[in-house]
This record gives sequence, structure tokens and C-alpha cells, in this order.
Amino acid sequence: MSTSPTIGVLAVQGDVREHLVALERSGADAVTVRRPREVEAVDGLVLPGGESTTIDKLLRAFDLQGPLRERIAAGLPVYGSCAGMILLADRLADGAAGQQTLGGMDILVRRNAFGRQVDSFEEDLHIRELGGEPVRAVFIRAPWVEEAGEAVEVLARVEHGPAAGRIVAARQGNLLVTSFHPEVTGDHRVHRLFADIVRHSLRERS
Ligand code: GLN
Repeated sequence: MSTSPTIGVLAVQGDVREHLVALERSGADAVTVRRPREVEAVDGLVLPGGESTTIDKLLRAFDLQGPLRERIAAGLPVYGSCAGMILLADRLADGAAGQQTLGGMDILVRRNAFGRQVDSFEEDLHIRELGGEPVRAVFIRAPWVEEAGEAVEVLARVEHGPAAGRIVAARQGNLLVTSFHPEVTGDHRVHRLFADIVRHSLRERS
């Protein structure tokens, strides 16, 4: 019997609702996470896009930073999209003064990496782990991964234009990041991949 994992979406700021829908479509029970005890109750967590400086401040104001760091260190599967990718980075370039991350992933992430003038753009990415059709990647004031440690598996790079070659999707164990926003396209393959990571980690633990 395959049971549905409970996957939280951090709901302090950002595009929460689209992730809840994408997770439900991927076979998970999706719940919002705003309180420390809700952090304890999930099998996996999505850190949505939004404004990473605001999310960072709210995590500290709501006493969520400590519990989240602890669970990440203990192996909680986490998927970070855009601002969420920034939050999972061990190192940050072009952060705001005093900006902190949760960390967990051995990556250097550059905020607003595509330049101020590049507000948003879309590109088709070929991601082997997602098979078949290319993924329509929507970038909105997006970061990129500028350096990745040895344990990090690169899943996608920009394929065209001046940023070609930049890393925009990566995985390190139970941690998954994308610079782009798969929750807005109706293609739920990234969320399905993450739900599989969560199911796998549950099986490992039991
Ligand atoms: N530029 C935003 C930040 O630094 C991220 C944008 C996004 O999540 N769409 O937090």
C-alpha cells in the first residue's frame, strides 16, 4: 500500500497556494507550515519563491529558523524554488545586509543573478531526471547556483543566451533546488520528483 506523505509548504510569504496544488496533484497531503510544531509534523517541506530577505526575517521572528535548521540537518527532504533556493544555500552572494539563510546545501547562490533589468524570462530546459519533454522554466528575478560542492548533483543549466551554462536546478541528497517556478506551469514533474524523494526517505527511516 502506498500512503501519501505529508508535505508542508512554508507559508510566511510567497506563492504558497500553487505549491499546495502541485503537491496534491503529485500524490501528497499538502499542508501549510507557519509554526514550529508544524515543522515537526511534516515528512518533507517546500520553501516557495517570494522575497528571501522577507522570508528570512519572518523565519526568525516566528522562531522557525532553529527548528528548520535542525530538521534539515537531520535529513528532512526540502525543495526550495527561487527564494527557497536562496534559503537552502550554505553561501550567498549579493544578499542584503544581515541576510541569513537556513543552509544545508553545499552551494553558493547569487541573488537576482540574471541582472536587475531581467525581471523575468522563460526557457525550455532538458532535465534528464524528469524524462521526456523539456521543462518550461519560468524565471522571476531568479538566483543561480554559482558554485556547487562535490556532493551536489547538477540537474539543469541555462541552455541559451548570456547566462548559458549557469546551474539552475540541483540536488544534494534529500535537498532539491530550482531557480525557476514549476508551480506556475501546470507541469508537476518537479513536485513529483520531490514527492518521490520524500517517499523514499520515509521508507529508509522505517
Ligand atoms: N529575488 C528574490 C529574492 O531575492 C527571489 C525571487 C523569487 O523567489 N521569485 O528573494
